[in-house]
Amino acid sequence: MSVLAEIATLHETMRGWRHHLHAHPETAFEEVDTAAFIAELLQSFGIEVHTGLAKTGVVGIIQGREPGPWIGLRADMDALDVHEANDFPHRSRHPGKMHACGHDGHSAMLLGAARHLAETRDFAGTVAVIFQPAEENEGGGRVLVEEGLFERFPIESVYGLHNWPGLPEGHFAIRHGPQMAAYDIFEITLNGRGAHAGMPHLGRDALLAAGHLIVALQSIASRNINPLDALVVSVTQLHGGDTWNVLPQQAVLRGTVRSFSPAVQNLAEQRIREITHGVAATFGIEADLRYERRYPPTINADAPTRIAIAAATALVGAERVELDPVPSMGAEDFAFLQQARPGAYIWLGAGIGQLGCVLHNPGYDFNDEVLGVGASYWVQVVRHALPFGTPTSQTQPAEVSEAQP
Ligand SMILES: [Zn+2]
Ligand SMILES: [Zn+2]
Repeated sequence: MSVLAEIATLHETMRGWRHHLHAHPETAFEEVDTAAFIAELLQSFGIEVHTGLAKTGVVGIIQGREPGPWIGLRADMDALDVHEANDFPHRSRHPGKMHACGHDGHSAMLLGAARHLAETRDFAGTVAVIFQPAEENEGGGRVLVEEGLFERFPIESVYGLHNWPGLPEGHFAIRHGPQMAAYDIFEITLNGRGAHAGMPHLGRDALLAAGHLIVALQSIASRNINPLDALVVSVTQLHGGDTWNVLPQQAVLRGTVRSFSPAVQNLAEQRIREITHGVAATFGIEADLRYERRYPPTINADAPTRIAIAAATALVGAERVELDPVPSMGAEDFAFLQQARPGAYIWLGAGIGQLGCVLHNPGYDFNDEVLGVGASYWVQVVRHALPFGTPTSQTQPAEVSEAQP
């Protein structure tokens, strides 16, 4: 029986878990009920469970029938501060919180895989199933690494997955090297001199400087970076002023920078600094810049990426595995795990059109039709990464390790 057929028997069970998690969303480091739900299920599968890493993280340890190396499979489990617009029975019971990124589905798929792996133990080595908190904004992946995930468990390589609306249902997409961007944030405070709006010559206009600054920052991507390199500089907030006839004392801008290479990232930060102080000087005001590097880029390492491609190909066929997708300027804190250990991060197609409702939208819902293929992917990764002595046709990555950059 194929892995997909074996996992298919778990479909309704996984859907039940997914709907329970969807109805009870919890956000960054507050995934208390979510973690308890996951830990209890893992225990019921006979899996050794560790809790409390990065506050609400849960790690399950599954030993194979024979000894061998350790690998880590990671799912995120946090929700977003979004008010759900759906009205189906499993809609969010927590106002203002919602699983709008599909982490409910990610957790359900890894639970399904964990149950199957615990029942079969059909591999040589140890699998750590990692349920990670706070993927959105707060970097739960970084905290896991800082709190010693890799010291406590001798994991040698890590695998991550995200559902991907816009990619056909049940297809996969992965590339060697950068798959998602680095995520930086900046905050610029412009301190001018408040004045009567009818007598602007008596003040120093922070808002006028802010306007020039927003325009000037757009010259970094268009004039400082090689056009063939990728960079986004977006100003996403501008705060200043309270009324019609007052030039405010202060204006605050906030925004984000996305890039793939350290050289581009460094240049962007340097140019933001120079332009901010240059524009401020032009208007005779003071500027403060706070620049923070949040998530590094998601970079797929060679060996685990080959295993991920072999696993996906064995599951759905080469024609459904896209090997050179355009990288996304979105970001992913799985990158912290990949900085610590070689890792591979793959997108699982959630469907196009109605099914492919965009991530973070209040009308989004994880597509349950891909639960089976997602859980089966995890099992295939384990079989390819931790095969027994004699490889079967399902455990040979060789025929798919074709031309890569
Ligand atoms: Zn998200
Ligand atoms: Zn997500």
